[in-house]
Amino acid sequence: MKDVREDFLVFGSPRIEGEEMEEVLDSLRSGWIGTGPKVARFEEMFREYKGCAHAVAVSSCTAALHLSMLAAGLQPGDEVVVPTMTFAATANAVIHAGGRPVLADCDRRTMNLDPAELERRITPRTRAVIPVHFAGRPCDMDAITGIASRHGLKVIEDAAHAVEAEYHGRKVGTFGEMGCFSFYVTKNVVTGEGGMVVTDNGEYADRIKVMALHGMTRDAWRRFSDSGYRHYQVVYAGFKYNMTDLQAALGIHQLPRVDLWWERRRVIWERYDRAFQDLPVFTPPAPEPGTRHAFHLYTLLLDTEGAGISRDRFLAEMTLRNIGVGVHYVALHLHPYYQQAYGYRRGDFPAAEWISDRTVSLPLSAKLTDEDVEDVIEAVRGILSDGV
Ligand SMILES: *Cc1c(COP(=O)(O)O)cnc(C)c1O
Repeated sequence: MKDVREDFLVFGSPRIEGEEMEEVLDSLRSGWIGTGPKVARFEEMFREYKGCAHAVAVSSCTAALHLSMLAAGLQPGDEVVVPTMTFAATANAVIHAGGRPVLADCDRRTMNLDPAELERRITPRTRAVIPVHFAGRPCDMDAITGIASRHGLKVIEDAAHAVEAEYHGRKVGTFGEMGCFSFYVTKNVVTGEGGMVVTDNGEYADRIKVMALHGMTRDAWRRFSDSGYRHYQVVYAGFKYNMTDLQAALGIHQLPRVDLWWERRRVIWERYDRAFQDLPVFTPPAPEPGTRHAFHLYTLLLDTEGAGISRDRFLAEMTLRNIGVGVHYVALHLHPYYQQAYGYRRGDFPAAEWISDRTVSLPLSAKLTDEDVEDVIEAVRGILSDGV
């Protein structure tokens, strides 16, 4: 193949700069590598970015979702509506909090939770809903919060893809009781591993803070500071979900660049859109009016009938051309665990299945050079317009 680049283009490789590296070294030199002042600084920066009352840093978005479910008071057997088109962590958080994830189909065009589906899945046991702002596209929050308030449901947003997203002038993650963010390596802001819960409710924030560190009272966070030894009390059988200063050292330099890099991904996004117009694919629809898309994932939907190639063959062909690709996602109800535990099967959620069988995520990191972007385009066009 003449269009193979020399080195493998890793999917979702993060952009890390000198300031982060210096900050990590500074933490190492100081000896303060656990939870400390840099975590507090990152929380304050993120809180300000979101314009909310509280931000609590944790070890991952999975931890953020788990603690949010517990803080919301989920009881054994309580049901939480979760889109089937999401990552496993969204549903697993419900399960680990003792609840039951009730899956719902997505809108085939936006890939977000279909509000009509949400309404259809509500039972007397439903306590909450977790909208996922898929690929960075804000969910229809007017419809979702409307349904939630009519049925007395709590809204906990999974905003792992959507740090920068806005809906009708308001930041995503601030619509529900709590909003959960991820700083995993492939996400828009990275700390290696890391997450954040934002909320305007001080009680939720306190509960999450306590539960994230062994269930020890708030002062425990300052236990090793220079103000001397402090006794702590354990008030809950908590978890070990705290973020460390080594992680926050990355975050405090990533966050100020978040809009700059959003702009870079927007440019790549539009380049892809133009490059694939004539191919047997469905490119992502334009962002809805009055919203800001976070441009986290560029998901191409293969017109598998028109293209004469399966999605999995396409993935293999991209890899042969040294381009890393992703699949976001194979819907949860197609995975063995949820089928065995809850009886879901293929046929239950047609829109999510249609996407699951066709979707491919292309590299979309601010780290990509213009040449990288052209390599991706050349590979896609080579496979789909010349045949294989
Ligand atoms: C990445 C992701 C998570 C989990 O985030 P971690 O920080 O890796 O725990 C949860 N939900 C969605 C939609 C994600 O993409």
